[in-house]
This record gives sequence, structure tokens and C-alpha cells, in this order.
Amino acid sequence: MTPPVPLDLPGYVHVYSGKVRELYAPLDPATGSPSQDRLLLVASNRISAYDHVLESEIPDKGAVLTQLSLWWFEQLADLVPNHVVSDEVPAAVAGRALLVRRLEMLPVECIGRAYLTGGGLEDYRQNGSVCGVPLPEGLEDGSRLPGPIFTPTTKAPLGEHDLPMTFAEVEQEVGARLAAQVRDLTTAILARGNGIAAARGILLADTKVEFGLDAASPDHDGNPTVVLADEVLTPDSSRFWPADQWQPGRTQPSYDKQFVRDWLTSAASGWDRSSGAAPPPLPDEIVDQTRAKYVEAYEALTGRTFAS
Ligand code: ATP
Ligand code: MG
Repeated sequence: MTPPVPLDLPGYVHVYSGKVRELYAPLDPATGSPSQDRLLLVASNRISAYDHVLESEIPDKGAVLTQLSLWWFEQLADLVPNHVVSDEVPAAVAGRALLVRRLEMLPVECIGRAYLTGGGLEDYRQNGSVCGVPLPEGLEDGSRLPGPIFTPTTKAPLGEHDLPMTFAEVEQEVGARLAAQVRDLTTAILARGNGIAAARGILLADTKVEFGLDAASPDHDGNPTVVLADEVLTPDSSRFWPADQWQPGRTQPSYDKQFVRDWLTSAASGWDRSSGAAPPPLPDEIVDQTRAKYVEAYEALTGRTFAS
């Protein structure tokens, strides 16, 4: 994919392009220098699958993810502080951007699993554990775990694969105190999320959260506060399963990129995943169905109607 072209946002300077989001720093009106403690986090309509950012975009995806994250940040506010400062943003990015605290991000992708599937299932089948966390025998694709587990990975640079980490490796990376803190927060967020989503007919199988440190607001022991950043419990960062169709022992239907992944790996796409070549553009009906799934998940969870 050709790299995204940053927006021309008066009063902001572009600082980073992720696979899905763009970061801008607000400029101080008096000095013209970029803010050190605030960022504008703008979610695009880009979609990634199998580690490729696709050529096709999903209309409204950036807004759905931003609105859903904002709703979850509020649901989780008593559990963990979050990076949101304001949703008052330039009109050009209205609805899909947030003004956030600029944090020192921890170099760990904090993955929590409540159900077993995907890479976790592969690890379990080989080792009887996931990221070193031992699990009972006899689990299958989609099994509910005895309780949410922490299965972190590295945060690989753009274009590289994230690698599984043991808890001991996270301790080496960030220290024992922070490692325990992010482990406990990750599993607590997933447990709280499932408590809320269950009443709305959705299972949150697993999720990835990111934390950062805010040195400007130390906790009561004088340590930098651990803050929940990026996005939270969205269909991009999590597997959402319709609860009424949950049936361990097979692949579960899901609200996320399933249409996209299924089409890309089908004969219709003509794409060979192992070739390393860029995937082809998505047909309109795959784009439409994917958009509809994202909106459906947002509406089911929040009880709100999505207004684009
Ligand atoms: P990567 O950035 O590693 O390529 P990605 O493609 O999933 O991962 P995006 O979600 O597209 O990333 O971009 C968001 C980026 O902004 C991430 O690198 C994330 O760590 C970073 N980020 C999110 N919230 C904050 C924050 N409050 N302060 C600083 N950085 C943040
Ligand atoms: Mg991200």
C-alpha cells in the first residue's frame, strides 16, 4: 500500500502513521512548537488483515472505532484511567478523532483471552499452555477458559510480526511492578467487558490493549500513572462473537474482519497468502458487509444508533 498522506490540519503537526491511526501534535499558538503532553489521535477507515493494510477502506470504520472506544473508556473509568482529554476536535476529523494525553507507551501488546482460539489455540495444541500460562486438558476451538489469562506479545515495528512473550519477559522489559499491574488490568478489563457485553448478546473472546505512562500525574507512591491508551474493546482489537451461536469445537462466527479474511483466502480473490504479495482490492459487497458488522457491534453494545 502507498503510505497514507497526512491531513493538513491547521494548528497540528503530523507525528506518526500507524496501520490504522494517525497521530498529530497540537501546536502551541504562542510559540508554534508541538505539544509534549497532548496528541490528536485520528482513526482512518483503513483495514488490515493478515498483516497487510488493504487498498480498500471501510466507510465509517474510523468513526465507529472511535465512538465505541470512547463508550468503553467510560464503562471502564473506575477500573483504569484512560488517555481521553476531549472529543472536541477539528471539523475535518469530527467523530473519528480524540484529543488524548501523550504517553510513554509500554513496549508490550497486552492481550487478554477469555476464550481459546487463533494463535492461542495453536500455542495450546503444541504446549498445553499459552505464553507459558498452563491450561486444563481437553480445550477446543472456542472453549471458555477458567478465567481470563494474560498472553502478551512484543510490539513489533510496522511490517514485522508481534512475538509471544512470557510473563517473565514482560517483567524483564518493564519491571515486576508494572508487569503485574498491566497483567491485572488487562484481565480485569476483559472480565468487565464480558460482564457488560453478555447482556447484549456478545462474547469478547480476546482483546489487545495498550498502556502508557503519564509522568505528569504520578500515583500516591510517586510512580508514573499507568493509563489505558489507543483503542479499547473494538472489533479491530478484539474478537466479538454472537453469544447465541457460540459452539466450542469449530470456528465461531464473528463481528470482526471475518468477511474480509474469508474472502481474501477464498478462490474468488485469486490471492495467495503465502506469496507475500499485496492483497487485491475488496469487492463492494465485502466492504458493505464489513461496514455493517462494525456498525452492528457498535449498536448492540452501546444501545445507540450509529450516526455517520
Ligand atoms: P503500530 O503503531 O505499532 O504500527 P498499529 O498500526 O496498530 O500499531 P495504530 O492504532 O494505527 O497502530 O496507531 C496508533 C499508535 O498510537 C500506536 O503506535 C499506539 O501505540 C500509539 N498511541 C495510542 N495512544 C497513545 C497515547 N495516548 N500516547 C502516545 N501514543 C499513543
Ligand atoms: Mg493499534
